[in-house]
Amino acid sequence: MSTSQKPFEHVAATFYPTRVFNFPKVELHCHLDGCFRLSSVIKFAKKRSIELPTYDINDLRSYCCLDADEDSSLALFLKKMELFVRVYQGAIRQSPVTGVVGIDIAGEEDIEDSPAFRPHIKAFQYAKEHGIHRTAHAGEAGSAGSVLKAKSLLSAERIGHGYHISRDPDVYKKILRDQTHLECCPISSYRTGAVRIKEQHPIIQFNRDKVNCSLSTDDPGVMLTTLLDDYQLVADFGLSEKNLKIMVS
Ligand SMILES: [Zn+2]
Repeated sequence: MSTSQKPFEHVAATFYPTRVFNFPKVELHCHLDGCFRLSSVIKFAKKRSIELPTYDINDLRSYCCLDADEDSSLALFLKKMELFVRVYQGAIRQSPVTGVVGIDIAGEEDIEDSPAFRPHIKAFQYAKEHGIHRTAHAGEAGSAGSVLKAKSLLSAERIGHGYHISRDPDVYKKILRDQTHLECCPISSYRTGAVRIKEQHPIIQFNRDKVNCSLSTDDPGVMLTTLLDDYQLVADFGLSEKNLKIMVS
């Protein structure tokens, strides 16, 4: 990748071909409300009488998807998500739930002292007591310390993202020692600004040190990507196929 080229220019699935990574993969981090087809968004909006800015699929793309060459930030990313969330939130709630095997939490990551956070702690405690698995977003927008808080306050078994542990050697050592799994989403990390484009991506260090981590897409409907695009990006960092396989073994 040339230094002038933004990573997401190189890998957005709609615009660029990727290699076939011919080995089993696992996707652990994909938001239900960030992975819908636009045709489904239109269909559900009509069904639920939710007004959309347009019902033309190509025009709708500019409202809720990131273009490959569009500068991105967490604010813009969340703005693009709004429409997906508005259309699907109620629909998901109305769907029958036959069994819950795990829970996750996403949002502001450094607010553990806020009263608003206490119900979440209780919910995670309940989940732990009932054998429901737990993951939590931390170390993405938040500090390295937010990863430790997710483990201690929420009993998180896995961490969504976790990149910022690379900024604190003590936290890094603990996560490495505990083999806490990090659900890394390389393209998303650039598009939300969790990782700056000019810095070396923490995944390279994670892979070298054998931090327990895997690759996922996060919100492929917003970013117009597939899991192969994330593998392609990490391969472009210089990781061999053998190194990529470490993240799924
Ligand atoms: Zn996420």
